[in-house]
Amino acid sequence: MKSQANKLAFNDGWHYAPAPESTDHIRIDEKYDLFIGGEFVAPEEGRYFETINPATEDTLSSVALATETDIDRAVKAARKAYNGPWSKMKASERGKYIFRIARMLQERAREFATIETLDGGKPIRESRDIDIPLAAAHFFYYAGWADKLAYAFPGRNVRAVGVAAQIIPWNFPLLMASWKIAPALACGNTVVLKPAETTPLTAMKLAELIQDAGLPPGVVNIVTGAGETGATMVNHPDVDKIAFTGSTSVGRIIQKSLAGTNKKYTLELGGKAANLIFEDAAIDQAVEGIVNGIFYNQGHVCCAGSRLLVQESVADEVIEKLRERMETLIVGDPMDKNTDIGAINSAEQLETIQSYLKIGQDEGAEMYQSSCDVPRRGYWCRPTIFTGVSQSNRIVQEEIFGPVLAIQTFRTLEEGLTKANNTPYGLSGGVWTDKGAKIFKVTQGIRAGVIWANTFNKFDPTSPFGGYKESGVGREGGLHGLGAYVKMAT
Ligand code: NAP
Ligand code: MG
Repeated sequence: MKSQANKLAFNDGWHYAPAPESTDHIRIDEKYDLFIGGEFVAPEEGRYFETINPATEDTLSSVALATETDIDRAVKAARKAYNGPWSKMKASERGKYIFRIARMLQERAREFATIETLDGGKPIRESRDIDIPLAAAHFFYYAGWADKLAYAFPGRNVRAVGVAAQIIPWNFPLLMASWKIAPALACGNTVVLKPAETTPLTAMKLAELIQDAGLPPGVVNIVTGAGETGATMVNHPDVDKIAFTGSTSVGRIIQKSLAGTNKKYTLELGGKAANLIFEDAAIDQAVEGIVNGIFYNQGHVCCAGSRLLVQESVADEVIEKLRERMETLIVGDPMDKNTDIGAINSAEQLETIQSYLKIGQDEGAEMYQSSCDVPRRGYWCRPTIFTGVSQSNRIVQEEIFGPVLAIQTFRTLEEGLTKANNTPYGLSGGVWTDKGAKIFKVTQGIRAGVIWANTFNKFDPTSPFGGYKESGVGREGGLHGLGAYVKMAT
C-alpha cells in the first residue's frame, strides 16, 4: 500500500518518505490449531475461521474454532498441570520460567510487533514501542513476585486459586495476554486463554514461544474461537477463576452466569474518560495529550480520553489548536513507521463508529474531521471531534471505541467534576493544569480507577488498573493484581 505519509502535505509543504516495516523476518502459518497440553491439536469439530489484515482486507491465516469438547480438553490439561508439576514446583523455579518468557519476548520483539500490526491494524510504532515492550515488562515484573508472595501478603498464608479461564479483547492482544498470564503463573495457577476472534495471531505466536520455553505441558493453554467459546470457558464447572477484559455488555452476561458459583472473577470493562483542561494549563502540551489520548490506536483504548472538558476561557484556543494538530496526523498504512492512526480493527467496529458519527450529528452536535485521504481498501476513520454537545447526548454517555472526541466546556472546577462523573463509566480520567492543588482536587473528585495529571495513557506493570461503576470489578497490575490470583488461607 502506498504510504499515506507520502501523500500528506504538511502545513509548510513537506512530506515524510515512506518507511514501511518489512515482513521478511516473520512467519505466519496458513493454519493454527489449538494449544492444549503443550501441543498444537486440531479442534474436535474440524472448523476454522479466518483472521484478516484490517488495513488491506487480505486473509492472513485460519485459526481453530474451539467448541465445548475442546474447552473441556483444555481445562483438563490445565487441571492436570496444576495438580501435577506446577503446584509442586518451588516458587523460584516457577519464576525462572516466567523470566524466560519475558526474555524470549524481548528477543523476538520485532516479529511480535509486526504480526500484531498486521493482524489488528494498529500502527507499527505503537506495537513496537508500547505493546510488545510492555508485555515483556509484565512478565519480568510478575516473575520477580513468584517467590516473594509472602512479602506481598505479610502474615497471610496464600495459595493459588487453581485453573484460570482468561478472555481478552482485540485492542491490545499480546499486552492483554501478558496482563492475564503473568500474574496467574506467578501465583501458581494454570490457565486457559482465549484471544479475540479478530486478533488471534500473537497469542498463537506466544503459544509457540511458551512451547520453546519448555513450560510443563498444560500450564498455559491457548484456545481460539468466538464469543460462544468464551461463554463455554466461563461456564465450565472445573474453572476456579475468570479474568475477563472486554465490553460492559459481555461483562454483565458473565457476571450473571457466575452468580451463585464459587468462581473468583475480575472484569475489566469499558470506559468514557474525560480529560479536564484548565485555563492555567500548558495548552500545547495538553493538546498533544488529548491527541495521544483519543486518536492514537484509533481510539481503540478502554481508557481513551474520549471526552474533553475544557475551561470556557481557553476553549476557542484549545479547539483551534486541536484542529490544526489533527490536520498533521498521518492516517494510513499501519506498517509505515510514520503513521499515527492505523486501521479500524474490523468492518463491524467501523460500522459501530460510523453509526455514532450519525447519532452525534442527529443529536445536533457539530462534527469536524481532519481532511486527510484514507486508503480505498481496509477500514478507516478520520480523526473526528464533536462540539456543541450536551451531557445527555449518546456520544457523551456511550463508549464509541474509535477516534472520536466529544468536547464540552466548564466554568468552575466543580462543574468540570460533575460533568466528568456524569456517565455510567469510571475507568480513567485526566487533568491538565499548572496548579498542584487543582490536580489533587480533580484526582480525588473523579470517580475512576486511573487518573493522569499533565500526561495521558501512561502504563507501568507496577500500577494497578481497573474501573469504578460499570467499568469493572477488581484490579490488574502491580501488587493488587496478585490478589486476583490467590486464595487467603489465614
Ligand atoms: P467484547 O465483545 O466484550 O469481547 C471481549 C472478549 O470476550 C472477546 O474475546 C470475545 O470473543 C469474548 N466474548 C464475547 N462474548 C462473550 C460471552 N458471551 N462470554 C464470554 N466471552 C465472550 O469486547 P471487544 O469488542 O473485543 O473489546 C472492546 C471492549 O473491551 C471495549 O468495551 C473496551 O473498553 C474493553 N476493554 C477494556 C479494558 C479494561 O482494562 N478495562 C481493556 C481493553 C478493552 P470474540 O472476540 O470472538 O467475540
Ligand atoms: Mg485480524
